[in-house]
Amino acid sequence: MDIEKVFHMVGGNGETSYAANSSLQKRALDMVKHIATESIVDLYLATTPQKMAIADLGCSSGPNTLSVIGDIIDAIDRARRRNFMVTTTNRTTEIQVFLNDLPSNDFNSIFLAWPDFCKEKLISSGSSKCNGRNDRSHPPFVSIAGVPGSFYGRLFPSDTLHFIHSSFSLHWLSRVPPAIYDQEGKSINKGKIYISEASPPLVSEAYLMQFQEDFSLFLRSRSLELKSGGRMVLTLLGRTGPHHTHSANSLLWELLSRSFAILVSQGDIDEEKLNSYEIHFYAPSKEEIDDEVRKEGSFAIDRLELFEIESNMNKSKSNGSTATYGTTVATSVRAIQESLIRHHFGEHIVDDLFGIYGKLIDEETAKGEIRPISFIVALRKKV
Ligand code: SAH
Repeated sequence: MDIEKVFHMVGGNGETSYAANSSLQKRALDMVKHIATESIVDLYLATTPQKMAIADLGCSSGPNTLSVIGDIIDAIDRARRRNFMVTTTNRTTEIQVFLNDLPSNDFNSIFLAWPDFCKEKLISSGSSKCNGRNDRSHPPFVSIAGVPGSFYGRLFPSDTLHFIHSSFSLHWLSRVPPAIYDQEGKSINKGKIYISEASPPLVSEAYLMQFQEDFSLFLRSRSLELKSGGRMVLTLLGRTGPHHTHSANSLLWELLSRSFAILVSQGDIDEEKLNSYEIHFYAPSKEEIDDEVRKEGSFAIDRLELFEIESNMNKSKSNGSTATYGTTVATSVRAIQESLIRHHFGEHIVDDLFGIYGKLIDEETAKGEIRPISFIVALRKKV
């Protein structure tokens, strides 16, 4: 399967869309957004550029995309006004925002939401002007553009970007690691979709090799595109120790494997189909991220921090929603995985699969909370 052609989050605003099912990612982004805004303010104050080019890589579609952009623009504008008090040079900042994702991403939904977002969030808060009027003197001018393509390779001309942001995208590999297939092209990770207790050791080695290849290509490409001193803030899922199977992320894939196995036992899925399905995901450890940044050599690490995403299991209930935690997680994984699962197994299994998955997650959380962990990495391109 050509993942870069098939993989996309469920678009639009419907019940199963990424837009309606990305509140867990939003909660995580809110926990660490101060790190992204501190990084861009630091960069702004060091160089006070009149024009800034910023990019969000793996932007998807839905409220998280524009919310991140809004926070970044706000931070730049606050820094500009603070700086004005000191220097009395009150110049308009022009900001070019590039939104990147794979070509089948629903870019149209973002562009449709953009005018209202400007009116409600940016212009009314007095922070910005998006091709419109604003009474505050010298508001930043903001323009957005979509950039379809894989971030595992070049996306922008050299030396053009000041700041790069990417959240919850870099744990997606460019492909399923080819080293997990034997000479006949069959997966050696039978019945499992990710590294599990039952996987031969070669499986985790193959996934690590693919992560190293992809992440170093990502760093190399971005180092060419960023200006000297430019910043990059990345958030991605990860794991705490050397063992893959001890992590919450791996447990969630294990439960999805078990949901597939139930459908096999019911005769709804052919066993061979399951044996040939693997996910192109990798949850690195802190050391693995650190190693690749150092090996590639273009970036200094300002921060590399682990944080746990609060599950907030009771939050949906207090919001008046009757969804259990299992259903909330299952629908958010569905919004991410549905395009690939439909392509491989067909549409007919999707509702049943995620129904079973939600129940298995609820059974597991009855034994103890599942708390996926993430890393936030703030990098600075070396001068
Ligand atoms: N940043 C958003 C969306 C995260 S979902 C948020 O924080 O909520 C992950 C996104 O990464 C998806 O939209 C997916 O299509 C995109 N993605 C995955 N691999 C990619 C690649 N190689 N190049 C560009 N985008 C990619």
